[in-house]
Amino acid sequence: MQVLCHPSDGHADIQCPVCNQGFRVFWERSSAPDQKATLPEIYQELRNHHRDASVAAHPDAPFNIPSWSGLPHFSAAALLGGAY
Ligand SMILES: [Zn+2]
Repeated sequence: MQVLCHPSDGHADIQCPVCNQGFRVFWERSSAPDQKATLPEIYQELRNHHRDASVAAHPDAPFNIPSWSGLPHFSAAALLGGAY
């Protein structure tokens, strides 16, 4: 499923396994088993950020996993997850 990751220095749902940057996560679906099943994909994407980046690994702005060509705040995860 799709998620929206929102960089957060305060309340964080998950942390990057590499740098401990915190993120709030907004889920397209509210089912706990679905969310748990998606976690490995999120962590993998966060690791990928470090593989590609030279300075700042993660985007400052919210982003979707899987990546989505539209605006993050119009994504299903943002709308259904109640991000805004
Ligand atoms: Zn990181």
